[in-house]
Amino acid sequence: MPVSDSYRPDPRFAALGPDFADAVEPAAFAAARLIRRDRRAAARVGLDSLTDAEWDSAFRDFNPLPDNQSAPLAMRYHGHQFRVYNPQIGDGRGFLFAQMRDARGRLLDLGTKGSGQTPHSRTGDGRMTLQGGVRETIAAAFLEAVGVAGCAIISLYETGERLARQDEPNPARGGLMTRLQHSHVRIGTFQRHAAFERPDLIRALMEHCVEVYFPDVAAISEAERPAAFLRQVVAANARLAASWMAAGIVHGVINSDNMTVTGESFDYGPTRFLPVFAPDFTSAYFDHGGLYAYGRQAEAALWNLARLAECLALVADMSGLEPALKEFQTDYQGALAAAFVRRLGLAPATPAADVELTRATTRFMAESQVPFEAVFFDWFGGETSRDRALGGGRAALYRGAAFDAFRARLGDHDAAPAVDLSHAYFAAEDPVRVTLDVVRDVWGAIDEGDDWAPFETLLARVDAARDGYGLAPD
Ligand code: AMP
Ligand code: MG
Repeated sequence: MPVSDSYRPDPRFAALGPDFADAVEPAAFAAARLIRRDRRAAARVGLDSLTDAEWDSAFRDFNPLPDNQSAPLAMRYHGHQFRVYNPQIGDGRGFLFAQMRDARGRLLDLGTKGSGQTPHSRTGDGRMTLQGGVRETIAAAFLEAVGVAGCAIISLYETGERLARQDEPNPARGGLMTRLQHSHVRIGTFQRHAAFERPDLIRALMEHCVEVYFPDVAAISEAERPAAFLRQVVAANARLAASWMAAGIVHGVINSDNMTVTGESFDYGPTRFLPVFAPDFTSAYFDHGGLYAYGRQAEAALWNLARLAECLALVADMSGLEPALKEFQTDYQGALAAAFVRRLGLAPATPAADVELTRATTRFMAESQVPFEAVFFDWFGGETSRDRALGGGRAALYRGAAFDAFRARLGDHDAAPAVDLSHAYFAAEDPVRVTLDVVRDVWGAIDEGDDWAPFETLLARVDAARDGYGLAPD
């Protein structure tokens, strides 16, 4: 297989042993049709030079990659779902396929969804719908474009199967996807070993995470290492929750099995994006209590992090862990301001000015109900965008006391050095949006006429946004 010189296999999770995963056989999808192959993401791990047949062999049939995992591994985990502990979960329709180092030496996972049944499937069919795959692909691409650290959907197939589903019209077309992200170790991965009262496995999993993802923590004494590890996980997930707020995503299922130790955004089942700023907006139709509403996402993340602290309490003193947890609020407030400043294409000013700008922005957004993404698009680079914003289609919304306060706070900041308003993306009247109506239209064309053009057009616009904003995490 002509992997490129930058392909560096390093199957570290497999080396943890059989307590952490089950070797599984992928389902056979010989007639599957390739929908999307993300060469840019593939290049990060040296898999961009595969032929079409090799791509199928890897990402449809999941034959082992050179010197990588010898078999797919369904990862074992439990988790709190909507705050109810569920010991019946785990990789029930996905697995860890392979692990590689990127150019900077960081480990990356290839994980699947829709690849067949595993010992964790319960009564499920191990499948994903094509609509689910399309929605996740759009969400992941958009989030990268607006600066959220998360998965990339490297490969998407239509399997040709017809699935029975409760939440989609039947029969639903089957899909198969593979995502690239740094880690699939979830808070729920720790919870499973806590439930089985296995401090030895919690310790082993923690040491694995420290070595691979937080090497600086390895230098800390064994007694203090769990707290130092927790501190890193808290910081990463506070950053994630903050970046979600500035992206306008309402993740929808912030369960502890959907939060990784690396704080990466993934698993977008019912995910939606805000049409306008609205703290109460929920995305999952089954989230009746608004537990995972837009304005409660940080609270959800912190609640899950507290569950991780409880797991680590089996190998360390809770008194040492609690301070790490308490840092969440400070981390989050700082990261929130940083995220809003970045999204507005501004250079950070003083911490106080950054916080004031964030408050003024959300107040203005709440009051004016300007489309969420439009505020960041119209005012990207702050005052340097004045003529675009005040001469554009939304000019009438840019007035009043809340707007004046927002604009005054914008004036406290310079444009970020990399901002380039001459980029073609900013010549459009409207920013790209991935709200429910847009995603529904894209799916409608696929569903009714197998017309993929709107999907491709939308993704091309998201690409332009990524280029134009220049905010994608590296
Ligand atoms: P998710 O909503 O994708 O985070 O999944 C939550 C849990 O349900 C995980 O353990 C999944 O593996 C499992 N699950 C969801 N859908 C299926 C399915 N169709 N077949 C088997 N397991 C599933
Ligand atoms: Mg999940």
